[in-house]
Amino acid sequence: MRIKNRKRFYIMIGLLCVVIFLLLVVSFGMIWTAFSNNSSAQSDSSTVSNGSVQGNRTQETSTSDPTEVTDQSDTMVLVNKSTSLDKNYVSSDLVWVDLRGVRETQLRQEAADALKNLFKEADSKAITLYCCSGYRSYETQQELYQENVKTYGQKQADLVSAKPGQSEHQTGLAMDVTAESVNLDLDESFGETTEGQFVKNNAYKYGFIIRYQEDKTAITGYAYEPWHLRYVGKDAATTIYEKDITLEEYLKN
Ligand SMILES: [Zn+2]
Repeated sequence: MRIKNRKRFYIMIGLLCVVIFLLLVVSFGMIWTAFSNNSSAQSDSSTVSNGSVQGNRTQETSTSDPTEVTDQSDTMVLVNKSTSLDKNYVSSDLVWVDLRGVRETQLRQEAADALKNLFKEADSKAITLYCCSGYRSYETQQELYQENVKTYGQKQADLVSAKPGQSEHQTGLAMDVTAESVNLDLDESFGETTEGQFVKNNAYKYGFIIRYQEDKTAITGYAYEPWHLRYVGKDAATTIYEKDITLEEYLKN
């Protein structure tokens, strides 16, 4: 090869290398963008606040990171998708619930006493209620949530279960109740049963509310759960029942 041609040859090789390099940079960039969008769509609400994922979010997903509740042991504590409990919070007055139940479960003393009275009235009317699930630790919430995400996908999991730290069950003030008429399951149809109707119309007298009411998903962030009772004390429960409002609305006023 003559000198002149060799020089041209090297220039061509050089240009070719530059083009290949640029192509590699562009395709890596594209792969990286696709990858990071995908992984943020699969992670929880903590990624939403950076604003990179938009459009396909539903209102039940919080648009910002939850703030930590200040007085975690207050019986009026609000725990939802925008507020959460500390990972290590465990109420100091948890007791084992001495009532008919699907399994052994705990509640805070005050709520356990109130529930006993609710069951007592039910029994007197030949209505047989069962406790299903009360206090739930942070670790248990973590397991349940991950299981739900695996089974139903992120969106549906968020509608039916709480992210760790965002479950009222950690407060020790919430109890899921059930009945034989729904095979001791937690099912929406419980709301239509004699037991479900009894709970709906009498729980407030003992300080409990149906926390996730029908058609209130936009406010509570959760699907209808006629079985989920939350203890708030008689006064608040009575007002919430009579005005047919949610805990969020009650606390706002
Ligand atoms: Zn529940």
